[in-house]
Amino acid sequence: MTSLTFYGGAGEIGGNKILLEDKGARIYLDFGESFGFGEDFFYEYLAPRAANGLEVYFEFNLIPKLPKLYSKKMLQLTELKYQKPDIDAIFISHLHSDHVGHLEFIDEDIPIYMGHGTHRLIETYHKLYPQLYNIGEHNKINLFKTGDKIKIKHLVIEPIHVEHSVPAAYGFIIHTSKGPIVYTGDFRMHGPRSDMTQDFIKKAAKCKPYIMLCEGTRMSSDVEHNYTEKEVEDKVYDITSKSKGLVLTYFSMLNADRFMSFYKAAVKAKRIIVIDTRLAYIIDNMRDKIKILPDVLSDKNIKIYFRISKSCTFCEKDYTPWERPYMKNMINYEEISKNPKKYLMHMGFYRLMELVYLQPKDADFIYSMSEHFLEGEDNEEQRQIWENWMKHFGITFHKAHCSGHACKDDLFDAIKKIKPKILIPIHTEKAEGFKEVHENVKIVEKGKKAEI
Ligand SMILES: [Zn+2]
Ligand SMILES: [Zn+2]
Repeated sequence: MTSLTFYGGAGEIGGNKILLEDKGARIYLDFGESFGFGEDFFYEYLAPRAANGLEVYFEFNLIPKLPKLYSKKMLQLTELKYQKPDIDAIFISHLHSDHVGHLEFIDEDIPIYMGHGTHRLIETYHKLYPQLYNIGEHNKINLFKTGDKIKIKHLVIEPIHVEHSVPAAYGFIIHTSKGPIVYTGDFRMHGPRSDMTQDFIKKAAKCKPYIMLCEGTRMSSDVEHNYTEKEVEDKVYDITSKSKGLVLTYFSMLNADRFMSFYKAAVKAKRIIVIDTRLAYIIDNMRDKIKILPDVLSDKNIKIYFRISKSCTFCEKDYTPWERPYMKNMINYEEISKNPKKYLMHMGFYRLMELVYLQPKDADFIYSMSEHFLEGEDNEEQRQIWENWMKHFGITFHKAHCSGHACKDDLFDAIKKIKPKILIPIHTEKAEGFKEVHENVKIVEKGKKAEI
């Protein structure tokens, strides 16, 4: 018997937790946390504590109550008795919480497979945010690269690189007793490394798949223009070259493509890009994996921002040991405020305080993240505070962003090339929309086993 069970990622964007069972082999494709997880029951400090383990999550049905999957520690207060795990492997497509978020609950003896780059990013982030990026303890982490062929019992899994808004994103071809299953993970075709996604599509088509599990994040937004990463770079250049003051920006620190778009736009506009020590640390740690990234210590187009700390003298002992090496290429508020037109500076919400020291005049802010923060209902208070800061300092607000996901036309193009016998839409709120492009679309439901 061969089956797929969608414990997450069916009827919703994200939260992928897909169990594949095939003749005694059992593997998961991703083990993520749904967006908006627990928001119906938890609020600020009304949230489960680590000591609660999974008891609270089971109470509200927020996580599947399955035996032989979770660690002893996580089950200690629950009625589910700990048993040795019976899952052969969990394959991680990329480092977004909707794909890795619930790994921390997993039994430490279940083998985890992830890309080399994903593992590096986890280590790097964990150092910066020990609480936030916690994937738990795992005794068997196996790292793969594109082109590897991994054997799990009779299954053979091929990870193939795809382009997404985080480096080291993969799709998989899983060779099962029923035929190949293609899993896209999250992917796009409109960035600088669309060749990787095209490579994945080519290999997926060549294996003549029985099933394609296809992400459909943007199925519901077919009217919008499909902005490309190059267009983002051009827009950033346009705003920066016209600005009469300091240019500020905010983009995800995990998005290496976006960093490069801002870097290139800054160089073209003859400005220096200013990043904080955390972003410098991340780029520095990814540089041997992503060759195009510049050297943050020696590149003359980069400066690393140090905030005022304890002694107010910018001396070494004011900063943590991992930050200190970056002092070699340090800049502080004084230098920037003397000549603000020389800089394009990365600044997140929690760093807005720096504006008090920088005292920018005629500044511009380029917001370069998904619209979620600006449009989400839950962020109203935060958004208001952001607006107040912009107004207080007379900063002009701009947006320049493109999605990490393929647009509808690109998705349809991929499906037409890959030609699976059965198409299963995942990671989408508009699965029905895929019927336009394929005659055998199987709509799956969360928590239900689909025999294939
Ligand atoms: Zn996702
Ligand atoms: Zn993603």
